[in-house]
Amino acid sequence: MNKQRKFRELEEVLVAQATSDGDGVQLKRVFGGADLARFDPFLMLDEFGSDKAADYIGGFPPHPHRGFETVTYMLEGQMEHRDHMGNIGRLGPGDVQWMKAGAGVIHSEMPKQEEGLMHGFQLWVNLPAAEKMTPASYNDIDANSIPSYELNGVAIKSIAGELKVDGTKVSGAVTGLSTDPAYLDMSFDSDREVVVDVPDGYTTLVYVYKGSAVIGDSDYQLTKGKIARLSREGELLISASGATRLLLITGKPIGEPIVQRGPFVMNTMDEIHQAIRDYSEGTLV
Ligand code: MN
Repeated sequence: MNKQRKFRELEEVLVAQATSDGDGVQLKRVFGGADLARFDPFLMLDEFGSDKAADYIGGFPPHPHRGFETVTYMLEGQMEHRDHMGNIGRLGPGDVQWMKAGAGVIHSEMPKQEEGLMHGFQLWVNLPAAEKMTPASYNDIDANSIPSYELNGVAIKSIAGELKVDGTKVSGAVTGLSTDPAYLDMSFDSDREVVVDVPDGYTTLVYVYKGSAVIGDSDYQLTKGKIARLSREGELLISASGATRLLLITGKPIGEPIVQRGPFVMNTMDEIHQAIRDYSEGTLV
C-alpha cells in the first residue's frame, strides 16, 4: 500500500478587518485581540496600506510596550522609529525592524512622507515568561541584508527562521529566538507550488496579500486579505493561483497563559496592573 503524503490542512480562515490605531491610522487587522492561544506564539498581524496621506499621516506617537516583540516590515513608503533608548531608525521599502519590548519600551512610529503609497506589516511575537522582563532591544535590518532566494518562479525574502522550501534550506536574517519564528515573504510569478517543511507542533499561518493560493489538497481559494491557520502536523503545500504574494509565518508555541491589555502582554492580570502602574509612574523604562 502506498503511504500517502500528509499535508497541513486549513483549521481556520480569517478575513482581515478594517480598523484604526495610533493617531487615526487606517489599517487592516489580520488577527489579534481575543482568544490568542491558538496563534501562540503570535499575538497580532496588521497590514497598513494606503496611498491617501490622511490614512497614515497621524502615525503612532509615543506609546509603551511590555512583554513581547514587534516586527515591522515595510513594502512601500518611509517610516521613522524613535525610542527611549535614543535609537532613531528610518524604515524604507524592504526594511525590517525587529524590536524586543521586553520589560519596557516607549517609542514612536511616524511616517516620513507627506504623500504617496505606504504599505507594510506589523507582527507581534510573544515572549516566554522568563524573557518578558529582560532589557529592551532594537534591531534595524536593511533590505539588502535580508536573505533572498529564487526557486522555480518563487521569490522568497526570509526575514526570520530556518525552513526547508522544496528541499532548499532557507535561512532568515533573524534566528536563534526561543519561539523559533520563521517569517517569509513569498512571491509567486504564476501558478506555482512549493512544499515547506515546518516542524510538527508549530503554529503555521499563511496570509495572502496579493492574488490567491490553495493550501494542501483542499480546493479552497485563500484570496487576498485572508489568513489561514493550519493544522500542526504534515508538510505544507502552497499552490499559487496566478501571480501571488503571501506571508508564511511559523513558530513554536510557548504554552503559557496570555493576558493582554492594549500594548502590554503578560501572563497574569497582576502583571498587567503592574505594567500600567509602572507606565503611569514613569518607571516602565
Ligand atoms: Mn509600537
